[in-house]
Amino acid sequence: MSIEVMIKEFAEIAANPKAQLNKYKAEGKKCIGVLPYYAPEELVEAAGMVPFGMWGSNKKTIARAKEYCATFYCTIAQLALEMLLDGTMDQLDGIITPTICDTLRPMSQNFRVAMKDKLPCIFLAHPQNRFAPWGLQFCIDQYTNVRNELNKIAGHEMTDEDIRAAIVLYNKARAARREFVKLANDHCDVITATKRSAVLKAAWFMTKAEYTEKLVALNAELKALPVCQWKGVKVVTSGIICDNPELLKIFDDNNIAIAADDVAHETRAFRVDASEEGDPMMALAQQFADQDYEVLLYDPQSSKNRRGEFVANMVKESGAQGLILFMQQFCDPEEMEYPYLKKALDEAGIPHIKLGVDQQMRDFGQAATAIQAFADVIA
Ligand code: SF4
Repeated sequence: MSIEVMIKEFAEIAANPKAQLNKYKAEGKKCIGVLPYYAPEELVEAAGMVPFGMWGSNKKTIARAKEYCATFYCTIAQLALEMLLDGTMDQLDGIITPTICDTLRPMSQNFRVAMKDKLPCIFLAHPQNRFAPWGLQFCIDQYTNVRNELNKIAGHEMTDEDIRAAIVLYNKARAARREFVKLANDHCDVITATKRSAVLKAAWFMTKAEYTEKLVALNAELKALPVCQWKGVKVVTSGIICDNPELLKIFDDNNIAIAADDVAHETRAFRVDASEEGDPMMALAQQFADQDYEVLLYDPQSSKNRRGEFVANMVKESGAQGLILFMQQFCDPEEMEYPYLKKALDEAGIPHIKLGVDQQMRDFGQAATAIQAFADVIA
């Protein structure tokens, strides 16, 4: 199969999660919606069900969700609920609602009220202090509750062996995506910004076995190509999510390639593997504890600005000339972190721009002007 055909398959799935959900339901599978961030999807897999990422939508407008949400909730959270209320994702058999930010915490209860009697909502509170033994134990307790609730939906009990097998599968899927983002940098003439996003986004709507098989095949084809001599500019993208094809087309139209990303929906979601040895519940809790350089999680050494320096190094090591930050409207964690990221980038002499975005944006004229001007400056 040609690279183009493979990418087209990923792009179709990324663009139409409802069709993918219908397909799995027609196959008799149970599907679980998984909201951001860091839910142990491995438990859904271990229960024999399909996890479905719920990161809002670029095609919808908030209407029904307004009844349940404060207006200052980000569009990602509100549009995730909108898709349950308007029938797009209402074939799901349950959802997991992590509570990592100040929007997701109350939002977990909005989901519960809105979906009352229609859909089990599994509450998940990760520990703030995730490193200490009591933090790990808290995480295990929370994951055990998720496990028990998933067992009820699945109608059978997952075993530790099931979870171990899911961890092995997920580690392979994460490794394939890490390899893909490197190959996308080497072959940015073939893997444009829009295509890179589509390949990574499709992972949220596919069984990891199916996704990994296809991505390993794509990676093999990319590896066989000569490394491209890119004549355009390269940037690192940063933010929560950057998956709007209209927005990314501005990159493609201006010969801007994505060398690497610090995006929660992309690389930040597959940086860290879980141990394939020992107690699998502890392995998943430890995996969460091992997450690092993350805006959304507590860093006991935050005064050192390790995360800012990590991102600045990513720009240098990937060969990018600058960074484009997509700032979600009303996202407190990203907004509060921005001055520290700016400080690290400025100290490293790395140019950057910050663009305010949300998922109801339909006019990208201003963004296009800013991105074109930035590309001219760093070229
Ligand atoms: S975009 Fe920001 S405010 Fe919204 S769910 Fe994510 S972290 Fe929370």
